[in-house]
Amino acid sequence: MKDGHKDVFKKCADFTEAQNVKDMGLYPYFRSIEGIYENQVVVGGRRKIMIGSNNYLGLAHDERVLEASQAAVRKYGAGCTGSRFLNGTMKIHEQLEEEIATFTQKEACIVFSTGFFVNQGVLATLLEGDDYILCDRENHASILDGCRFSAAKTVPFAHNNPEALRRRLSRLPAEGGKLVIVDGVFSMSGDLVDLPAMNKVAKEFGARIYVDEAHSLGVFGPKGEGVVHHFGLNDETDLVMGTFSKSLGSMGGYIAGPKYVVEYLKHKARCFMFTAALAPAVAGGVLRALQIMQEEPERMANLWKNAKKMQEGFKAHGFKIGTTASPIIPLLIGSEMKAFVFSQKLFEAGIFTTPAVFPAVRYGEAIVRTSYMATHTDEELDYVLDTCGRIGKELGIFDDAAYTGDKRKGSSGYDFTVPNESRDAAVREDAGVLAQ
Ligand code: PMP
Repeated sequence: MKDGHKDVFKKCADFTEAQNVKDMGLYPYFRSIEGIYENQVVVGGRRKIMIGSNNYLGLAHDERVLEASQAAVRKYGAGCTGSRFLNGTMKIHEQLEEEIATFTQKEACIVFSTGFFVNQGVLATLLEGDDYILCDRENHASILDGCRFSAAKTVPFAHNNPEALRRRLSRLPAEGGKLVIVDGVFSMSGDLVDLPAMNKVAKEFGARIYVDEAHSLGVFGPKGEGVVHHFGLNDETDLVMGTFSKSLGSMGGYIAGPKYVVEYLKHKARCFMFTAALAPAVAGGVLRALQIMQEEPERMANLWKNAKKMQEGFKAHGFKIGTTASPIIPLLIGSEMKAFVFSQKLFEAGIFTTPAVFPAVRYGEAIVRTSYMATHTDEELDYVLDTCGRIGKELGIFDDAAYTGDKRKGSSGYDFTVPNESRDAAVREDAGVLAQ
């Protein structure tokens, strides 16, 4: 670089955190999966029980889904080579949109190439400079990015706390447009949103409400429609988004709501208009998965049987699992380093899962995020419980500050020795998850 000029690559050269964890033999990310056998994956030639996916209904490898995907490839080709707006709209996309609108009982729907784009695109498009986005502090990163991309002011409120929402809303001017956005099931904690209370508060202050069903589609609701249906609040909820990357085993996402809003988004949302359409193989597979989900309600029943077994089982082993009410079960570890070590030990014992550290969770509250599938067997789940319990004891996790509440032990999580300025700054600001 020329002297006296800032090099935009400098931060990359200075970024050593990942390498440090690799050097310790504890790096848990980007593990390369060589093969998949239902609930087990092969990594480094060895099978591991998968408890780190979002394949809740076990449909990602269903033969019927794979066949439908192949049929769509044969009919429409490998890709759309363009955006939906121009040359990329195929019959299969429209079919998928109609099916989702019917299934979610919304007037209309459009499908985006990823769930991330849905949140980013819809928020950036709908909200204007004098508007406010009321955003739960634990909402997903795609929502936070949507807030950033929109011209509106973001007003964060305490996680899943309708009173905090009320306080925030009560201070906003009536003339500013307001949108309350919440995850149906929060992706790290597994918490279920208190939608009845949120909805009531939103209505009191003339705010629209938008629910992200990424982790609740196929999990909540009489037929898996999501939390909005679980609470019987579909008509009261203005916009609902969902993803195809979890229960439906593929990728992509949708926004469903009033026809005139969907029509507007279709012509204005940049994440929809300026990116290639969902590949036909994806649309075909998702359509089939959506049918199977409705034809085989036993999948959702099994998912819940497994989720309940694991929630109870972890508690019985002494784990803190927070306030989860879903198949996402976070094991509270506290210390980042211990979360890495715990994950690595599980991996060596044949269990695939990953730690979540700051900024995915609040700093000092590292977890190992586990999640369950309809297809897990009792044998697999018992093995997971016993192994987690044994390794937890070996590592002294239950004696840690996160469990005993004893701050003097100095293991409240701030023991990750690698210095990081942005992390420290974020902690100082107590910016919480919004620092993402
Ligand atoms: N919303 C939530 C709550 C999520 O957890 C995710 C992904 N984990 C997304 C949106 C983004 O979805 P996708 O991965 O399908 O792009």
